[in-house]
Amino acid sequence: MVKTRFAPSPTGLLHLGNARTAIISYLFARSQNGSFVLRVEDTDKERSSKEFEESVIKDLEWLGLEWDEFYRQSERYEIYEEFAQNLLKEGLAYRCFCTPEEIEKERSIALAKGVPYKYSGKCRALTKQMSQSLADEGKPFTIRFKTPGNLKLGFVDLIKGEVDFSSDDFDDFVILRSDMSPTYNFAVVIDDALMNISHVIRGEDHLSNTPKQLLIYKALKFKEPKFAHLPVILGQDRSKLSKRHGAVSISAFRDSGYPPEAIFNYLALLGMSMSEGQKEILTKDELIKTFDLSRIGSSPAIFSYEKLKWLSGQYIRSYLPLERICNDIEKFLEYSFDKEYLCKILSKVRDSFDTYLEGANRLKTFAPTTISLDEEVISELKPLLGYLQELLNLLEKEGFSPEGAKRAVKTLQQNHGIKQSELWKALRLSLTGERQGISLDIIFELLPENLIRERLIGALRC
Ligand code: GLU
Repeated sequence: MVKTRFAPSPTGLLHLGNARTAIISYLFARSQNGSFVLRVEDTDKERSSKEFEESVIKDLEWLGLEWDEFYRQSERYEIYEEFAQNLLKEGLAYRCFCTPEEIEKERSIALAKGVPYKYSGKCRALTKQMSQSLADEGKPFTIRFKTPGNLKLGFVDLIKGEVDFSSDDFDDFVILRSDMSPTYNFAVVIDDALMNISHVIRGEDHLSNTPKQLLIYKALKFKEPKFAHLPVILGQDRSKLSKRHGAVSISAFRDSGYPPEAIFNYLALLGMSMSEGQKEILTKDELIKTFDLSRIGSSPAIFSYEKLKWLSGQYIRSYLPLERICNDIEKFLEYSFDKEYLCKILSKVRDSFDTYLEGANRLKTFAPTTISLDEEVISELKPLLGYLQELLNLLEKEGFSPEGAKRAVKTLQQNHGIKQSELWKALRLSLTGERQGISLDIIFELLPENLIRERLIGALRC
């Protein structure tokens, strides 16, 4: 059975890269009728926090991911310790009593020489008895894996193809820290094996960890899973996507009013080869049905903020039910609207914005308030004020409606020979404080008469 997992370290916010890894792992599992595991990798006590764990989980749920099993590595220390003890017994690992200062010294010597740091292997030479008696004395130790020399460590990655390493590239790495917490490479293997993960799908930054993990699979006599390493995501300038390019955390996109479906859809197809004429807007179920791991390219994916925003706009104008948009946009509004009124407005204007934040901005026109006019608007409006007074008088007669406004504008044009566009401009500036925006037809249809009157009177006083 296919089983995948997403294994975030709760050391920061969920960002686009990790969210994409989660989505791909999820889609692959679901496309194979398999299951999906969420495993929080919180063994780095200093950098992990409950707040980050909660925010990552919240973001994953918001994106629409569901998992069948949930684990937290900090609750599984006994398991890792038992496996480490077994390796110790079998002579495949050893206790290392080197102090952090000694290790630091080795590291700085390597740095000075300009060579990559590797542990000297000093404690490998300790006899079993020596090691035991130092441990009995209470001397702190870590447990290191005895990396065999001169071993080819190759595997076929489902995305990257054949990957080769040699065990000589690695030192005797720590598997259990002195506080008996496991290191990433050790815990990940034990968990992936015990949880029966069939496919490990993760970011390319872990490619060089895989050979170390293969050594542990062998030592523990576990069956290896298949590996698929996703290429990195780059910005348009081809450098690694980072804050310099724009928002990178999922929560930032949520706060800017992107619907989760748009982000899910975008990340699911990012870096995928597409066949001609293939639909780009797909629901989660369609993405599951059409998912094909072999369509993920091995070269970096280029992230486009414009494309994501476009997709967000598509979801808002054509794909999400109106009721959803009404509910979603509420938290972005500065004023609270009557729900029915809000939905009515949105049914007319949902095609004029790409995110809820932009939409909320648009909706300001309909808020039960006066409009503040800036200097520039006032100076544009000044020469038209005489006409505005007449427009107001005519509207009182003709009615504050789209038809009434049309009749009023036409009458004034005929009486004074002024261009209709100038008159509409005067109305728009007075009613919205802006040069562009929602069509005046919609404004006259939906803005209550008293607000129209108030705003026109307000403008006349400017
Ligand atoms: N905790 C690791 C990370 O967040 C997971 C790597 C893996 O999927 O094996 O990068």
